[in-house]
Amino acid sequence: MAEFSLHLNDDQLQIKDWVHQFAKDVIRPNAIEWDEREEFPWPIVQEAAKIGMYGWEFLMNNMSDPTGLTMPVTIEEMFWGDAGIGMAIMGSGLAAAGIAGNGTPAQVAEWVPQCYGDANDVKLGAFCVSEPDAGSDVSSLRTRAVYDEAKDEWVLNGTKAWITNGGIANVHVVVAAVDPALKGRGQASFIIPPNTKGCSQGQKYLKHGIRASHTSEVVLDDVRIPGHCLLGGKEKLDAKLARARDIGKTGEAQPAMKTFESTRPAVGAQALGVARAAYEIALDYAKERTAFGKPIIMNQAIAFKLANMATQIDASRLLIWRASWLGRNGGFTNAEGSMSKYYASETAVRVTEEAIQILGGYGYTREYHVERMHRDAKIHTIFEGTSEIQQLVIARAISGMRIE
Ligand SMILES: Cc1cc2nc3c(=O)[nH]c(=O)nc-3n(C[C@H](O)[C@H](O)[C@H](O)COP(=O)(O)OP(=O)(O)OC[C@H]3O[C@@H](n4cnc5c(N)ncnc54)[C@H](O)[C@@H]3O)c2cc1C
Repeated sequence: MAEFSLHLNDDQLQIKDWVHQFAKDVIRPNAIEWDEREEFPWPIVQEAAKIGMYGWEFLMNNMSDPTGLTMPVTIEEMFWGDAGIGMAIMGSGLAAAGIAGNGTPAQVAEWVPQCYGDANDVKLGAFCVSEPDAGSDVSSLRTRAVYDEAKDEWVLNGTKAWITNGGIANVHVVVAAVDPALKGRGQASFIIPPNTKGCSQGQKYLKHGIRASHTSEVVLDDVRIPGHCLLGGKEKLDAKLARARDIGKTGEAQPAMKTFESTRPAVGAQALGVARAAYEIALDYAKERTAFGKPIIMNQAIAFKLANMATQIDASRLLIWRASWLGRNGGFTNAEGSMSKYYASETAVRVTEEAIQILGGYGYTREYHVERMHRDAKIHTIFEGTSEIQQLVIARAISGMRIE
């Protein structure tokens, strides 16, 4: 077990500086343009791939750190640059996590690299759980997977909603119901290989924030995939379904829940990056801007806002680092992952709003980054479990009761 320490080691400091430099020199200067274009920023992701900042090796390096802190440190710096472009770079990681969480070692080796491609031919991955009628309630997915034993193929039908990289990804990881009567315990995860017939992009959503990140419906119309595309394999699924039918419940979390639980501190780190970026801009501005003959920070009304922002940002980071460390060293005991995501995302919304207030009229214009940061911050209270769902998870953990 790695020691928990607030001191980053040399490797972590090096990665932090490297990502920060890229965020400062490449991501931030391009943020306004790609937010306006509302398109996937291919040239920026390609640039990241060329220097090794996009790719499965980069992901594995981050994930293999025994302290668990490299991942949140990397993400904070990237999202400090810009959350939309940050999401475009990190979005494939959710598909990779879905494969790593549910697949066999052979499936991980085959499919995770295909979620990224290489520096000369960048590819994307998409993790498809949510549906038009099932977001928070992932146990009621309608997308069906039916096994065709004669051909050893699975046939998938349904519509997935709000999917990051949906339709433009090379590899789609889809969670579908195999036995709907068993709700969450009757679901499994599948790989949809590149160019599979029947898998297409539905509507592309126009969004409030993170507009450089592509979000779409994914339509599955009689999609046929080979039997080996079932993550974890048929034997394991059959055993799980049999157990669920026998005893009514397996006690195991459903696949989607497993993925989301382990990625929650990372989502907290995204929000933290946005919050810190807005705070730094507001602090600089408050020292420079004069009103009534003195810098506006000389007023407690402004200085105390900044004091609160700094405190809440540091508290977010401490919760995220604790959860990230626990995720690698023994696991969560009291919904610490949810706590970190909940607190950091709500902090990001508050801090970015206060930053706009501190910048006054300038803060409300698109020319200054804080306006975009405020829009970008909001998604973190919604995806990968809304704030209400995080509170539900925390409430159940601390009470040991099934709070509804
Ligand atoms: C930009 C973006 C990217 C996304 N990327 C992905 C992706 O890559 N893959 C993917 O699978 N999904 C993705 N999502 C979907 C996202 O995870 C869902 O939108 C989210 O889980 C909420 O589900 P919902 O929208 O159906 O809201 P609902 O579940 O309908 O919730 C609506 C409101 O009701 C509240 N609520 C619901 N149930 C309860 C309860 N039991 N107690 C208290 N309050 C409750 C919620 O907190 C929320 O405020 C993305 C969404 C967006 C907007």
